[in-house]
Amino acid sequence: MNHFLLKTSSPEETEQLGEKMAGYLNPGDVLTLEGDLGAGKTTFTKGLAKGLGIKRVVNSPTFTIIKEYDGRMPLYHMDVYRLEESDEDLGFDEYFAGEGVTVVEWASFIQDMLPENYLSIRITLLNDQKRSFELIPHGKRYVQLCEELVRK
Ligand code: ADP
Ligand code: MG
Repeated sequence: MNHFLLKTSSPEETEQLGEKMAGYLNPGDVLTLEGDLGAGKTTFTKGLAKGLGIKRVVNSPTFTIIKEYDGRMPLYHMDVYRLEESDEDLGFDEYFAGEGVTVVEWASFIQDMLPENYLSIRITLLNDQKRSFELIPHGKRYVQLCEELVRK
């Protein structure tokens, strides 16, 4: 199976992983983040934003659902937790097909609206400081991305 497992031992390491990941991303890429509250979804996204050259502070968009940031390319940061029971479509397709990278926290709540190809990242709390990151690529492009990422 094409699953890739990585671990981090601090929030800083998780940010660095996000930052590193950013180096492999292209416009139109979609990443989904799953994991309990406090797993590190937003921490990972902060690092990713840094890697995209975004200077603004990235916070969880729990109340706004979608936040857009300008960097080397745009970041569309979504937290769709509040859509759990509504299934509302906020024009996701246009973000997924846009000029930026989309990161979706709690993506399982909009599972039916996700594109065909995306990189699923499942974060598990191992203890206070340790997290495991399971990367599950959907589509060839993301298999390659994972292979490159774990190689370096
Ligand atoms: P989520 O968005 O998944 O709810 P956050 O990124 O907002 O999670 O919060 C993660 C919390 O866990 C932060 O308080 C962070 O300091 C802490 N933490 C401890 N160890 C790690 C780690 N290895 N990776 C990410 N966060 C960690
Ligand atoms: Mg969050």
